[in-house]
Amino acid sequence: MSNIRDNIARINENKPDDVLLVAVTKTRSAEEINKAIDCGITDIGENKVQEILEKYDYVKPVRWHMIGHLQTNKVKYIIDKVSLIHSVDSLKLAKEINRRAGNKGITMDVLIQVNVAQEDSKYGIDAEEAVPLIEEILKNYENIRVRGLMTIAPFEENPEDVRKYFKQLKALYDSCATIKHERLDFKYLSMGMTNDYEVAIEEGSNLIRIGTAIFGERKY
Ligand SMILES: *Cc1c(COP(=O)(O)O)cnc(C)c1O
Repeated sequence: MSNIRDNIARINENKPDDVLLVAVTKTRSAEEINKAIDCGITDIGENKVQEILEKYDYVKPVRWHMIGHLQTNKVKYIIDKVSLIHSVDSLKLAKEINRRAGNKGITMDVLIQVNVAQEDSKYGIDAEEAVPLIEEILKNYENIRVRGLMTIAPFEENPEDVRKYFKQLKALYDSCATIKHERLDFKYLSMGMTNDYEVAIEEGSNLIRIGTAIFGERKY
């Protein structure tokens, strides 16, 4: 735990300042998370609603990101806790986010999760579904602002093997960013994890989600 500080410093040296580092804190205790916040972390990512709820009251002020698959029946628990939902991949989920955001009188920022590599095991829409989904959200859901795209690349020993997926997502991001709408304001291209973030940044990522390289291997 003592080297969380060194780990964060190393990642910050490896990335441009305008790439946002989101510390992925799944399985980590509030104590470990607070240590990371003391070392300058401003944004944390969790992939389970339950973990957000368990830790929320014990973690110092920070921006929370929902980066994992989100079931519609759990949106209500996190709608006023997270600043960005990375995993919107259906109209049904968007509809529920819109409804719950409306109840709270807020506008929710979301990213569209794209399964660029078309892996069966991963959530996310196919690349060609992105524009139609975004257009439906903009048309129907006035409490949602679309801020960009997210992907989880397949795990490969050699991160060069996933460069092509990052390239594809960046091209899709650039084309979606040209859609003109008051509730579309592209800012985040969320791609890159411990194993592949350097390649992701080279291909245009501006938000990396890093767990292991900060906190060490996860023990489940
Ligand atoms: C766990 C997780 C990460 C971080 O993975 P590491 O390999 O530990 O950096 C990033 N994104 C998502 C969606 C995750 O679930």
